[in-house]
Amino acid sequence: MKICVLAGDGIGPEIVAQAIKVLDKVGEKFGRTFEYSEALIGGAAIDATGGPLPEETVEKCKAADAVLLGAVGGPQWDTLDPAIRPEKGLLGIRKALGLFANVRPATLFPQLKDACYLRPDIVEKGLDVMVVRELTGGIYFGEPRADGEKDGQRYGFNTMVYYEKEIRRIAKVAFEAARKRNGRVCSVDKANVLDVSRVWREIVIDEHKNYPDVELEHLYVDNAAMQLVRDPSQFDVIVTGNLFGDILSDEAAAITGSIGMLPSASLGASNPGIFEPIHGSAPDIAGQDKANPLATILSVAMMLRHSFDMAAEADCIENAVQATLEKGLRTGDIMAEGCKLVGCTEMGEAVLAAI
Ligand code: NAD
Repeated sequence: MKICVLAGDGIGPEIVAQAIKVLDKVGEKFGRTFEYSEALIGGAAIDATGGPLPEETVEKCKAADAVLLGAVGGPQWDTLDPAIRPEKGLLGIRKALGLFANVRPATLFPQLKDACYLRPDIVEKGLDVMVVRELTGGIYFGEPRADGEKDGQRYGFNTMVYYEKEIRRIAKVAFEAARKRNGRVCSVDKANVLDVSRVWREIVIDEHKNYPDVELEHLYVDNAAMQLVRDPSQFDVIVTGNLFGDILSDEAAAITGSIGMLPSASLGASNPGIFEPIHGSAPDIAGQDKANPLATILSVAMMLRHSFDMAAEADCIENAVQATLEKGLRTGDIMAEGCKLVGCTEMGEAVLAAI
C-alpha cells in the first residue's frame, strides 16, 4: 500500500513520525508492506514554494492509496492574504481528491474518563459516537453568496443548498459505517424550518430502503446538540450536513476532554482518503517533544480499517493504545494524578512495545 505523508506544520512532523513507526511495526507483525512518499502542504509549502498546495503534492496524493496528514498552520502565516493561507492547502487537497465525507469518531477511552466534561453518571453509560459530516456542499459552498450595501445598510447572505446526489452518497457512508458499528443512524437536520432540510430528510429516508438492517431516526439540530451532552450513549452514527456537522463534530470531540486523542477521515467515492488527527498544529508546544501522538496513531488505524480493509491490523493498534494508557503513560494534555508524564517519542515507543 502506498501512503502519501503530508507532515505539515507545528507538531505535524513529530506526531506523524510516531504514526509511521507504528505502521511499520504493524506491517512487520502482519506481513504487510507500506511504501511512503512525502509532500509539502500548508505553511511549510508556502515557505518553500509560495503557495499552500503545490501541484506536485496533489499529484503525489492522487498516486497514493491513502494520505496521512499531520496538521497545518501557525502564527507566522496568519497575516498572509487569505487566498494563500495554510488552511487553503487543506481545503484544496480535499477538493482535488473529491472527498465529500468527513468521518469523526468521538470515543472516550475508559482510562481517560476523568478528562470528560460530563457528569460521572453520564460518562458511566459510555461515549462512542461517529459523526459523518457532508464536507463539500451546503451553506459553505452554496451559490449565490455575497455581501453588499442596500438602502444604507450592510448585508450578507449565503445559500444552503443540497442536491439529491450529495445527500444519497453521504447517507450511504453513514449506513455503511453503522453496519460496521452498532447498526444505528441518526440523521440531523432542521426540517421544521428549512426547505433544504426537508429534502435532506426525504432522501435519507429513501436511501434507508437499501439498508433495512440499520435503524434510522431523525433529530432537529438544536435537540441533537442538547442530547449530545445530556446522554451521548443514545447515539451510534450521526449523519448531517456541512454546517451542522462542523458544530456537532466539534461538540462531540470537546466533551471527551482530550482532542489529542481523536482521529478523523475524509473520504470520497474511492481511495485515496485523508486521515488526520482532529487537532491543529499546536504551535505553543511544537518542537518540544510534548505533543500527544495518539490521535495520529489512531488515524492510521482508521486508514487501515477504512481504506485497506485491514481490520485485524487496526484492532491491533487500537488495543496497543489502550494498553499504553492502561500502563498510566500520559502526555501533558491528558495528564492525571498518579500517571507518568511522557513526551511524544516515549508515547510512540510505548505503543510500539505494546504492538
Ligand atoms: P490546536 O488544536 O492546534 O491547539 C489547541 C490546544 O490544544 C493548544 O493548547 C495545543 O497545545 C493543544 N493540543 C492540540 N493538539 C495537541 C496534541 N496532539 N498534544 C497535546 N496538546 C495538543 O488549535 P489552535 O491553537 O486553535 O490552532 C493552532 C493552529 O492550527 C492554527 O494555525 C490553526 O489554524 C491550525 N489548525 C489546523 C487544523 C488542521 O490542520 N486540521 C485544525 C485546527 C487548527
